[in-house]
Amino acid sequence: MSASYESRDGIAVITLDNPPVNGLGHATRLAVAAGIDRAQADPSVTAVLLVGAGKVFCGGADIREFGTPASLAEPQLGTLMRLVEGSAKPVVAVIHGVCMGGGLELALGCTYRVAAPGAGIAFPEVKLGLLPGAGGTQRLPRVLGVETALQMIVGGEPVKSEVLAALPGQRLFDRIIAGDLLTGARDFAAQVAATHATGVPLPRVRDLSVAHPGPDDYFQRARSVASAVARHFPAPLRCVDAVEASVHRSFEDGLAYERELFVSLMSTPESRALRHAFFGERAAGKIPDVPADTPLRTIARVAVVGAGTMGTGISMNFLNAGLPVVLLETTQVALDRGLATIARHYEGQVTKGKLTPERSAQRMALLTATLSYHDLGEADLVIEAVYEELGVKETVFRSLDLVAKPGAILATNTSTLNVDTIASYTKRPSDVVGLHFFSPAHVMKLLEVVRGEATAKDVLATVMAMAKVIRKLAVVSGVCDGFIGNRMIEQYVRQAGYLLDEGCTPSQVDRAIEAFGFAMGPFRMYDLAGNDIGWAIRKRRAVEHPDFRYSGTADLLCERGRFGQKTGAGWYDYRPGTRDAVPSPEVEAMITDHRASIGRPARDIDDVEIVERLVYSLVNEAARILEEGIASKASDIDMVYLTGYGFPRHRGGPLLYADSQGLENVARTMRQFARNPHDDAAFWEPAPLLARLVADGGSFT
Ligand code: NAD
Repeated sequence: MSASYESRDGIAVITLDNPPVNGLGHATRLAVAAGIDRAQADPSVTAVLLVGAGKVFCGGADIREFGTPASLAEPQLGTLMRLVEGSAKPVVAVIHGVCMGGGLELALGCTYRVAAPGAGIAFPEVKLGLLPGAGGTQRLPRVLGVETALQMIVGGEPVKSEVLAALPGQRLFDRIIAGDLLTGARDFAAQVAATHATGVPLPRVRDLSVAHPGPDDYFQRARSVASAVARHFPAPLRCVDAVEASVHRSFEDGLAYERELFVSLMSTPESRALRHAFFGERAAGKIPDVPADTPLRTIARVAVVGAGTMGTGISMNFLNAGLPVVLLETTQVALDRGLATIARHYEGQVTKGKLTPERSAQRMALLTATLSYHDLGEADLVIEAVYEELGVKETVFRSLDLVAKPGAILATNTSTLNVDTIASYTKRPSDVVGLHFFSPAHVMKLLEVVRGEATAKDVLATVMAMAKVIRKLAVVSGVCDGFIGNRMIEQYVRQAGYLLDEGCTPSQVDRAIEAFGFAMGPFRMYDLAGNDIGWAIRKRRAVEHPDFRYSGTADLLCERGRFGQKTGAGWYDYRPGTRDAVPSPEVEAMITDHRASIGRPARDIDDVEIVERLVYSLVNEAARILEEGIASKASDIDMVYLTGYGFPRHRGGPLLYADSQGLENVARTMRQFARNPHDDAAFWEPAPLLARLVADGGSFT
């Protein structure tokens, strides 16, 4: 169903009914328009109620229709608005739960609005790089005043109905109804119908005046705030422009201007990137061969093995979500240290006022500690986070296999080891899965779910659902060295090393890629994470793949004990007590000496080349990962990079970025790099999938 119609006691009720959020899809728009027409034609109807079925009034556009012909089919929202606004009988929007985006625009087109307390009211369009495009920027200031309207339109965050209703002089809500909403709305409708029956004209939001004292100064200030907050995004500024138009222009002119701004934002790369992220996050949960209705296993109790950096962070995710956690270690000392880490974190939150003492106590009460595997028998999910050594993982998984209850999910947080090998240490490899958290595990949003050869479909479906409970974005990766994220970053870091060999300094590389929009350049990133981790991996790889090529500078750095922030020195110098990366003359001399020792002349490398070499090294590896099926879709790779690696959000991820540059151009640039005698020709061979897409004129996304 899309919307239903009934009429009783002179009042017609049109009910939006398009689960889950009564999105304004084509069928719904058609049904609402038909309902309005029918009410006009029925002489017994004196007023119309527009209500939402289920838990919400209306969440706005139906996102399933985005980009399809149905989204453009008439009646479009603007048409519907004209119909509602032109109704000869009062139309009352009856709001509860959620009223957002197009839903709020539709409500603003109604004659009156009543609401239940607690309803979330928002224009979230700015989060997709857009603005409300059906009159929202012109009507909201008319009912809430310029300042509140601007805050809501630029910020995109929901505000509670009762908060807005309490604002002095507001005209958004005509009544807040605390009791039964529909009964209250009927009473209200009967009352206004009686008033208008006497010939009082129907009020329209468009006819209200809007003003602001000293508008020029005010909007100037609003612009500086908006551009500071949303550096790379044009939409917040355009929101200010549109709201300003509500003050300076007539309603119709303002509407036309809003439309113009909306259409121009629609085609910006920033909006495209935000929409890609919005849909990519939703698509990440859909695994091609795992049906959406796969029955889930229950996860009510969790166990974590290893109380180090990751084990403690992982535990907090579940404690925060209200799930009991048993934490296991090998020694009392290690266990106490882990418990103290968690306790300290919560105490810090309390001190900062981010957590109440009661909440902190509740979370700590959910945590138990043990040295015995027998205490893990009740856990529905066990996550191992012990040392990154296969032998240690083997001991742990063999022990888990003996005590875990049937159906328990056994997960490993390994970053580099083979999940299939780890699964083989149990008699239940189908219950084993990789859960690759990122550090700090209680903060980072990304979770790579590593699907082993034997991992059962219901195990996958269950951990994907569990990720939502602990508010992570889960992306599925197949088994390979480094999974999606680290496998790509390794190529990026290799290139960063080659750039040093050819003449760059670490700070030059970092500055260029940070100007591109990365949260942190590769050298600052490794100083934060610890250069010793990569050193250990390279040593291991040197045995397995002796011909693996990379710049020697990172090893030289580690030989000097410069592991990064934790040792007070890495690619940069760090003064005690600060995290500011100060360029190091010692490191620059080390790089110059190394360059001389390999007979490489230094040359000036511009920022464009730095960025292309770093970003295209991600793109080429991503193409291999896609082709091998390690990632099932391009957007999954972009989501990994947006949420776990600080890739600039306004560029949408490495693959959307490559598409935006034109794959033909990307491949041509790679071949050009391959001709540089000091770079690595094999490195720059375009991946087969990339070459094919270029030949077919296709794109990744
Ligand atoms: P860590 O050294 O901080 O902690 C490991 C903990 O495991 C220690 O407290 C140790 O006492 C305990 N331990 C060792 N053997 C054990 C055993 N047999 N039984 C129970 N406990 C045992 O290491 P970490 O950084 O937390 O890394 C843990 C795992 O997480 C590794 O597999 C690592 O690759 C992975 N990982 C780490 C990061 C990171 O950034 N640190 C990120 C993602 C994944």
